[in-house]
Amino acid sequence: MKIKINQFQIESFVDIIQNSHSVVIVPHIGPDGDAIGSCLALRSLLKNLNKEANIIIPNEFPDFLQWIEGSDSVIDFEKQSKVAKGIFASADTLFCLDFNDFERAGDLKNLLSAFSGRKVMIDHHPGPVAKCDLLISYPEICSTCELLFRVIEAGGLLGCLDKAACDAIYTGIMTDTGNFSYNASDPETYHIIAKLLERGIDKDLIHSNIYHTFSEDRWRLFGHTLKEKMVILHEFRTGYMCLSKEELAQFHYQPGDTEGLVNYPLMVKGIVFCALFIEKDDYVKASFRSKGSFSTNEFSKKHFKGGGHTNASGGSSDLSLKDTVAKFESLLIENKDELLNSY
Ligand code: 5GP
Ligand code: MN
Repeated sequence: MKIKINQFQIESFVDIIQNSHSVVIVPHIGPDGDAIGSCLALRSLLKNLNKEANIIIPNEFPDFLQWIEGSDSVIDFEKQSKVAKGIFASADTLFCLDFNDFERAGDLKNLLSAFSGRKVMIDHHPGPVAKCDLLISYPEICSTCELLFRVIEAGGLLGCLDKAACDAIYTGIMTDTGNFSYNASDPETYHIIAKLLERGIDKDLIHSNIYHTFSEDRWRLFGHTLKEKMVILHEFRTGYMCLSKEELAQFHYQPGDTEGLVNYPLMVKGIVFCALFIEKDDYVKASFRSKGSFSTNEFSKKHFKGGGHTNASGGSSDLSLKDTVAKFESLLIENKDELLNSY
């Protein structure tokens, strides 16, 4: 079914932008291509409308996104909290992009809840809970970047979207669909890409900038994980991997180095569910992916304090890495019927 963006939301979006003077834009913690892409595109639009606009990110973002024009001038709250607080204090409008709950903004969450100006959230994760003046939430749309493009176009502001913003939007659509391998069957996505191409994006170059810029260490970490750490449990149609801090150190881990790694077990015939567990300083980060009906979102919410989309979710565990894996294996037994009947 064709997705239509609510006209009132479009008008409110335009109205809020036109009446804003100083805007702060925030993505989720551990910002990915869609989060960074949507923030950069919105900031570019606002600047072209002569508005003051700043992007404040909860923590750093991966190297493979740092080619996007404007990405060098985002403010990392972990490194520049004083500057960030000053910007919040003087802003009249807040945009939250690519997340649905202030809890997902890391240490920025209190600044978001306490913000006294207008709050707008644009997102595609199911079940938004954040309190905002304007919520534009469409979980059926593949990415926040695509949603933002649709809103900008419907609001008659496409003329203010420059090539750098189009690069950023394409990046979000491409990365959130796993390079068009999932959530990528809506014809409208490709109509939008055609419009981005008409505005000058170099699709092949963006692909290469994102996917062909591994460090040697990162690629060897992938090799190590697939060869030594991938566990395939055909009886549960599931595969999983875990990485300890020592292993990450061995491959000189940099933020973003494990991005995309979680997906590989799904390439094994018959596998419909997979997980990646990564040991951090004080918790274990969990990533889940699935093919078909098995809801990683429900699974993550119920057992790993997380959430996300049906086929891609994340969460965390306070157990040791070993105990997290043991918990995951026991949960597979509980979910066996659902996994075997996944379609
Ligand atoms: P990833 O596994 O790549 O970190 O995240 C996959 C998806 O799950 C993304 O849409 C991300 O926003 C969401 N996600 C990741 N971690 C969490 C979490 O701890 N809580 C919630 N609610 N969503 C998460
Ligand atoms: Mn997204």
